[in-house]
Amino acid sequence: MLYTTFGNTGLTVSRLGFGGMRFEMPEKTDEMAAVVMRAFEGGVTYFDTAPDYCDDQSETICGRAFKEMKKTGRPFYVSTKTMESAPDSIRRQCERSLERLQLDAIDFYHVWCLVQPEDLSSRKAKGVLRAFRQLKEEGLIRHISVSTHLEHGYVEAMLDEGEGLFESMLIGLNMQNHHLRFAGVQAAERRGMAVVTMNTLGGGILTQYEDYYQKSVRPGDASILESALRFNLSLPGVTVALVGFRNIADVEDTLAVVERFRPMSASEIAETSAGMKGLYREFCTQCGYCSNCPQGIPVVRLMEAYNRALLAGMDASIKQMRYHWNVPDVAELLAKCTQCRACEEECTQQLPILARFEEMKEASKAAQLD
Ligand code: SF4
Ligand code: SF4
Repeated sequence: MLYTTFGNTGLTVSRLGFGGMRFEMPEKTDEMAAVVMRAFEGGVTYFDTAPDYCDDQSETICGRAFKEMKKTGRPFYVSTKTMESAPDSIRRQCERSLERLQLDAIDFYHVWCLVQPEDLSSRKAKGVLRAFRQLKEEGLIRHISVSTHLEHGYVEAMLDEGEGLFESMLIGLNMQNHHLRFAGVQAAERRGMAVVTMNTLGGGILTQYEDYYQKSVRPGDASILESALRFNLSLPGVTVALVGFRNIADVEDTLAVVERFRPMSASEIAETSAGMKGLYREFCTQCGYCSNCPQGIPVVRLMEAYNRALLAGMDASIKQMRYHWNVPDVAELLAKCTQCRACEEECTQQLPILARFEEMKEASKAAQLD
């Protein structure tokens, strides 16, 4: 395992972080806790979870594992998050997380999911930073962190808004979107902050469509997983790269990649990023932030199906909706859409969701006529 110092905190953490957002059987707490514990045995010491992940089971699964891990006496660090803004709501959610995680304190508590440039200032107005300060003073959280999908100079502005409180930043960054997000890493590094990357594997897209990405595997690497992880771990300023593990096999595969880690040179990083540029905006990473459609339209599923259209044609997308998600007529489903654009405003990848809906509607109508 690789280890490093976590920004200005002075803590030593593993450079591979456990992403607790992709457990394959979230209803099976013990089986999934074993996945967490296998990573810990393999040397991982940074564990990231959140309320809502995996049908709201991730914190509970992690908590089951942490209870056992504490018995070893070996250190590990836990990150979780809140999207709440009001101090009372933040406290309630923090206390609930502590209970589910079976911890006395959260190491890294994140102001979660800042996706619009104005998000932090509007949450500040409701008291978010005041509430985080208070939790830290009381010892319920140890470090204040921030989680974002913002691009370019927006991150710098957001960190300026943070009143110097943020000690680490979680940012969605991978070989596809590096050209849009790396400025954020540099802004955090200038402030002595640790940087943790999420979406290291493009929200699973890179490994799920390995054949498609085969041409992006670097010489000497065994898989796109290896290239993607090497890429993030080689970026100056990146402290920890999260990988979302579904099962023990994922953990084993990734630990093996870390064991044979070779850093990429600056020219390799530039070449890889240039090669991927342009693909980034096409794909939905399944992050789920668009899932609160007031009309109940399953935007995440539709965009996952659209990913298939990009990779295998529109028929594959319509079949995915019909046979996997049991939606025989996408056009009928989308007739409920009021075009309010709330989903597009939330989209971390800034995808043209409504335009994609139109394409899917047309394809669905054509399929009905077949
Ligand atoms: S634009 Fe349509 S799908 Fe998106 S949130 Fe509004 S009603 Fe839902
Ligand atoms: S459409 Fe955008 S917000 Fe919704 S899941 Fe995909 S990437 Fe995330």
